[in-house]
Amino acid sequence: MKIIVIGAGPSGLMCSYKLREKGFDVLLLEKNEKVAKKVYITGKGRCNITNNCSKEDFFSNVVNNPKFLFSAYNNFTSQDTMEFFESRGVKLIVERGNRVYPASYNPHDIVSCLYNACKESGVDIKLNEPVLSINKKDNYFVVVTKKNTYDADKVVIATGGKSYAHTGSTGDGYKFAQHFGHTIIEPVPALITLRIKEEIPANLYRFTFKNVSLRVITDDFKKEEFGEITFYKEGVAGATALTLSSMINRIDPNKVNIEIDFKPALDVKKLDARVIREIQSKENKTVKEVVHKLLPKEIVDWFLIISKINGDLETSTLSKEVRESIVNNLKAFKLTYIGLDDIDRAVVTSGGVSTKEVNPNTLESKLVSGLYFSGEVLDVDCFTGGYNLQTALCTGALISKKLA
Ligand SMILES: Cc1cc2nc3c(=O)[nH]c(=O)nc-3n(C[C@H](O)[C@H](O)[C@H](O)COP(=O)(O)OP(=O)(O)OC[C@H]3O[C@@H](n4cnc5c(N)ncnc54)[C@H](O)[C@@H]3O)c2cc1C
Repeated sequence: MKIIVIGAGPSGLMCSYKLREKGFDVLLLEKNEKVAKKVYITGKGRCNITNNCSKEDFFSNVVNNPKFLFSAYNNFTSQDTMEFFESRGVKLIVERGNRVYPASYNPHDIVSCLYNACKESGVDIKLNEPVLSINKKDNYFVVVTKKNTYDADKVVIATGGKSYAHTGSTGDGYKFAQHFGHTIIEPVPALITLRIKEEIPANLYRFTFKNVSLRVITDDFKKEEFGEITFYKEGVAGATALTLSSMINRIDPNKVNIEIDFKPALDVKKLDARVIREIQSKENKTVKEVVHKLLPKEIVDWFLIISKINGDLETSTLSKEVRESIVNNLKAFKLTYIGLDDIDRAVVTSGGVSTKEVNPNTLESKLVSGLYFSGEVLDVDCFTGGYNLQTALCTGALISKKLA
């Protein structure tokens, strides 16, 4: 039986290898000049390949359609991923939050391991072969690339999502799926910067605040993430913002409010006591000097402007209202959310091929027999921590399981 896998990202590579292991004739078609380009930019260039977590933790980190991934993940867990790489000589390291990286912190180790597994098992990999169309004739598929036309008994679409298009993920898989009648859940950015209306001063670009809480408040829910935020020209990023972006990416920005709690460890009463101490200290003659004691110096001026507090006010004559305003703004520094950054800069695409039309036990289309989907092209996305690559790998690994 001949199977064509389209897209040599981590999902397509794993899928091809597993299919070949079972003895199928596998042709892997990749549009780029090399495989798995996106992997080189993962994990800030270090490649957070999976998360050494329990099954429960894995599913709690899947934002959309976790149940759809039950079979795929149970068939190829995070520990199986680690075993896969370690048994092929890639040393791994487990860091904070159970994030797993190659010990070399070099994504190339991960890519070459997948590539070599495919090559050694006999997968026919063709680079520089963008697939232009797929059609089904009777019982076989006709796949047309820029250079050739191929026939296959089965086709796997592993073309990824729509972000970082220069890595090859340009959303082609959605067009192929739609051609076969599949529903595409609108692709929207996830794990991405929150854009804000207020102009962020240049001295804050790339400035990271640790141990803060970022809050989003919508008509239906309030979510808070503790950790880091980083300011950029475009808005607020960092782990907390990325996580929250995945929860609000389908909500009208006008209905989302965001706030930073700069002092999450102190409740309002304790923070007020602290502010009173600073006001009463002889060292601090103005409000600005008080705020200096409570925030990194880089943000003090901007904090005062956004909070509409006059930094020149003298502490000796400070009103209760001003003091309360300092406290309230430290606990809930309000910024005007205007939407997410462009999808091209999203770590992951939310949306894609509707999981309702794909069999979760085989990843075969429910509409077209012999057509399969794996990886980010599907409507599944996860939080940061290695869960997205794990999803790409485990969906890729599942397809061979029920094929005989
Ligand atoms: C900046 C960044 C950092 C990230 N960091 C992490 C991380 O540390 N950990 C983590 O778990 N996840 C991370 N991710 C997410 C992760 O990289 C993706 O979820 C994963 O790569 C998806 O794998 P995939 O194989 O489904 O798709 P992709 O990796 O996108 O691969 C799809 C492949 O299909 C090819 N293709 C597309 N169309 C065609 C066509 N028409 N013909 C032929 N080939 C085609 C593409 O060229 C590409 O090679 C990160 C993503 C980004 C952008």
